[in-house]
Amino acid sequence: MELWYTEEHTEDVRFSIKVDKVLYSGESEFQRIDVFYSKEFGKILTLDGLMMLTEKDEFIYHDMIVHVPMATNPNIERVLVIGGGDGGTVRELTRYQTIKKIDMVEIDEEVVKICKTYIPQTAGKLDDLRVQIFFEDGLKFVRKQKDEYDLIIVDSTDPFGPGEGLFTKEFYGNCYKALKENGILVNQHESPYYSNYANSMIRAHRRIKEFFPICKVYQAHIPTYPSGHWLFGFASKTFDPIEDLEENKWNSLGLKTKYYNTELHKGSFAIPNYVKELLDSE
Ligand code: SAM
Repeated sequence: MELWYTEEHTEDVRFSIKVDKVLYSGESEFQRIDVFYSKEFGKILTLDGLMMLTEKDEFIYHDMIVHVPMATNPNIERVLVIGGGDGGTVRELTRYQTIKKIDMVEIDEEVVKICKTYIPQTAGKLDDLRVQIFFEDGLKFVRKQKDEYDLIIVDSTDPFGPGEGLFTKEFYGNCYKALKENGILVNQHESPYYSNYANSMIRAHRRIKEFFPICKVYQAHIPTYPSGHWLFGFASKTFDPIEDLEENKWNSLGLKTKYYNTELHKGSFAIPNYVKELLDSE
């Protein structure tokens, strides 16, 4: 019998991938965790039935969540990753020799264990000496930080279940406090296309804007995320992601990337009119 992974993107839209093998299925204290293998996408991680990553297209998400802030300020040394238990964001960060410290706060230790076992493509750099992993709620962790980080990356699940607190005003205010005076906050910003996702994105954007003088969104095409059209939030105390882009400096690092380049960096901030209207709506 054929097995399919199916995610409901709206009440009337479903997205399915044929599963060749179930590699892991279990329930942690926080969520259901599944790892599948598909001929088209390779290994797939889902949490509570929702798509987190596939081996085939994870490079798009991880390139965009890491290299956009790093090319804006290549002097970043201290980074906090919130969520990100699959390790893909940390993997990209460890490519910068200039980064001295990477703290990762993941609520669910099981996600890290399972990704280390089944998905080394993303989890392979979690043992880098600069990485320290804290297994706790990111919402609580940032409350305790002040003037500590140059960059915070929120690589979270959607705003339901354990990830809900990572979209609140309290959380963004504490991120502002945890950042140094020229700090940058990047977060996964959901999809603008279907209203159930767009509403959380609009709310999150509005809350971030209350704290950060520079607050923009940029986009990427991620085939396995709802609608394929995905946004990231870029908020900062001083850096503008276009005016301050250090194009030559970043290119001189010689990092090979499959999706990101500095031309695409500039273009990714050019967003469609309907998204601009959503972001400006009250
Ligand atoms: N790339 C993914 C996406 O956008 O779908 C996110 C990947 S990563 C696996 C998300 C991680 O955030 C999960 O491992 C989850 O356990 C973690 N997480 C959810 N809520 C959290 C919280 N409050 N504090 C820390 N980590 C959290």
